[in-house]
Amino acid sequence: MVVATVILLLACAAVSNCVGPDIYSDSGNPVETCHVNWTYDRTNKTHGSFCWDMFAPTCDGERQSPINIETKKVTFMFFDPKYQRNTNTLTGHIKMAERAPKFMIDKKKSSFILSGIPFHSDKRFRLMQFHMHFHEVNVKGSEHRVDCEGHDGELHFVHEEISSMNDARTSNNNAGTRNANKVVLAIFVTIDEKENKTYPGLGPFFDNLKNAVICGTDKVSGESETFTVGPLEFLTTPGNLYSYEGSLTTPTCNETVTWLVRHTPVTVSRAHFEELLKLKWENTKISVHGNVRPPFPMNDRKVYTNFKVRNEKNNENHNGNNNNENNGPTCTEWYESRVCGTESDDDDDN
Ligand SMILES: [Zn+2]
Repeated sequence: MVVATVILLLACAAVSNCVGPDIYSDSGNPVETCHVNWTYDRTNKTHGSFCWDMFAPTCDGERQSPINIETKKVTFMFFDPKYQRNTNTLTGHIKMAERAPKFMIDKKKSSFILSGIPFHSDKRFRLMQFHMHFHEVNVKGSEHRVDCEGHDGELHFVHEEISSMNDARTSNNNAGTRNANKVVLAIFVTIDEKENKTYPGLGPFFDNLKNAVICGTDKVSGESETFTVGPLEFLTTPGNLYSYEGSLTTPTCNETVTWLVRHTPVTVSRAHFEELLKLKWENTKISVHGNVRPPFPMNDRKVYTNFKVRNEKNNENHNGNNNNENNGPTCTEWYESRVCGTESDDDDDN
């Protein structure tokens, strides 16, 4: 408890205002500030990533993200997401927000409109930003897992439904659909130990991290100069995807996201990955890395794929009507044993 308190105090010292008024709101919009009072520290029983529901109840909902994708249980279905776009590249700037480096897209210069989303075929979604989740080297930094295997990091390309600010939230009653007004395309990232190459088009993002100001006491927005990334082939040809209905992976964890998780990772050179590890909150020694939420229970959801999954471990094809009840590892054991709250925890001296 003492350790957790110290960590919370340090986290508070990293920002000028530890009680961000917006973070408790449930508006559906990401809070565009670094001034958040939650943490990824798993031992923190009131604001840590095991216990965000202590202040944001939706974070303990039935449709949370990330998840572990069990390839034995996925369902094959045709879907083919496509972009309508005015350019091949993304122009924008880096901003530190919500404990991640974010590339904010200039919508006038780079218009990427996505359609063809499972259960949302009548909707269009605009690419707004992408950001990265990562951990220190040798600790898995992806949020999603596939058969409990993680990767070094995970990029999230966040799309907002066009006109969702108006009325579209309640109009669609398709199976598996609730208030989805966001699509997040998740791209796994692995460090390329063999050739030390960064995926074509992503290099400028990592090169410019050093120019991104971490938000601190006097620099609220922490923005870099404008620059361009791309072209990114996974945007023009999304390829083999998993899809399911889930949530934001940061508070307030709104269950409004249709996820597309790309099967094939992209690579990053070790030098580029280490640029991420240099990011620290201004005026502190606290690293940004470790911004990884653990996988949540599937509950009654399904994962759909647009490709025939080959379970590499068993070398068998598991698609179709396979209702295999032999449950493999779920990587969600932490969920059952988590302890949250502030009462009667004095016996815990970790
Ligand atoms: Zn994310």
